[in-house]
Amino acid sequence: MAEGAARLSLAVALLVLGLKALAYLLTGSVALLSDALESLVNVAAALAALLALRVARKPPDQNHPFGHTKAEYVSAVLEGVLVVLAPLWIAKEALPRLLHPVPLEGLGLGLGVSLLASLLNGLLAYHLLKEGRRHRSPALTADGYHVLSDVLTSLGVVLGVGLAGLTGLWVLDPLLALAVAGQILFLGYRIVRESVGGLMDEGLPPEEVERIHTFLQERIRGRALEVHDLKTRRAGPRSFLEFHLVVRGDTPVEEAHRLCDELERALAQAFPGLQATIHVEPEGERKRTNP
Ligand SMILES: [Zn+2]
Ligand SMILES: [Zn+2]
Repeated sequence: MAEGAARLSLAVALLVLGLKALAYLLTGSVALLSDALESLVNVAAALAALLALRVARKPPDQNHPFGHTKAEYVSAVLEGVLVVLAPLWIAKEALPRLLHPVPLEGLGLGLGVSLLASLLNGLLAYHLLKEGRRHRSPALTADGYHVLSDVLTSLGVVLGVGLAGLTGLWVLDPLLALAVAGQILFLGYRIVRESVGGLMDEGLPPEEVERIHTFLQERIRGRALEVHDLKTRRAGPRSFLEFHLVVRGDTPVEEAHRLCDELERALAQAFPGLQATIHVEPEGERKRTNP
């Protein structure tokens, strides 16, 4: 499913790149060139996301017993790096034109083609963000935000270049190109920051940990004394939980183990993608005094 979204985004990115490159060739506008470059980054990003999802989907194996889901973060970091390279090219093309503005041609057709590309991209962004949230996939979500900001940028570029055409203020073209470059840089920063959280074993949000805690307390009522020291970490669509389960000191191992297996199963059902590991303790380890 998530892979379907990645494949779709690759196809759309290629189409949009073609349209934007055409818009640039028709007009010679550096602003439209920078817009096309952003699409080139999109194509590379979609490819990286697709490869990462292929890897992430592989089941746990001997040297990756916790699965391969973190491959998604690696792909998002790669995307961030790519995003840094595009602005350098834009600066190289746009800076000379600040001093010597170049009149543009074929604006009507070029801008029309660019608008068509943005329409396609807008539909794609909406789809990616929806799927990314549904699958808790950082690669898809990063891709979705990327495409969305691409749409906003493109609309700004079309407006600005159109204005330059109407007024003859051709210096607007390189100025817009540089603005796009800055926006691409900011985007790269955001993508990298989000993914580094996952690579650094960031825990689940506090509200979710609290929900898990409440869920466990209800489940153990009458069979164990308390749960404490909940620790979580997330890895793409999967997340991991460790906690201590305090039982009466004379509880048979068989009974405690049965409860653990039940809790692990119930947790995986109530919180999809969550895998729990439970440490059993006798009542001397209790942290609270109330029952
Ligand atoms: Zn403990
Ligand atoms: Zn067991």
